[in-house]
Amino acid sequence: MIAEIHTGSCLCGAVRLQTTGPRAAVVFCHCSQCRKQTGLHYAATDVDLEQLQLEGEEHVRWYRSSDSARRGFCSNCGSALFWQSDGADYISIMAGAFDMPADLKPGCHIYCTDKADFYALTDDLPKFDGNRS
Ligand SMILES: [Zn+2]
Ligand SMILES: [Zn+2]
Repeated sequence: MIAEIHTGSCLCGAVRLQTTGPRAAVVFCHCSQCRKQTGLHYAATDVDLEQLQLEGEEHVRWYRSSDSARRGFCSNCGSALFWQSDGADYISIMAGAFDMPADLKPGCHIYCTDKADFYALTDDLPKFDGNRS
């Protein structure tokens, strides 16, 4: 069996990533934290931690965004790269960091009630007021 390999990077290229194996469908998060951090909304895929390899990891800085999670970004160019729940065995990687073709599937929208008022959700993906549950 040939392993599924995908690569990506931050905007400046100081941080490069590679994943092996399947990635989850992309979750679009419209909460206020994601809005502030990304300028619009977050779109990320989850992989098991052991599936992720990082190059230039020393350039990743972590911001503790809540009691239970942190957000990783490139300290050189500021690209949002990761979201990680404390103690989780998986990590969320910003979908836009992947090199094209990303070969990712859209999954669902979460925290739709916190969405900014200057755009609309017009696709047919599942939409949740809060997190999926
Ligand atoms: Zn960078
Ligand atoms: Zn969010």
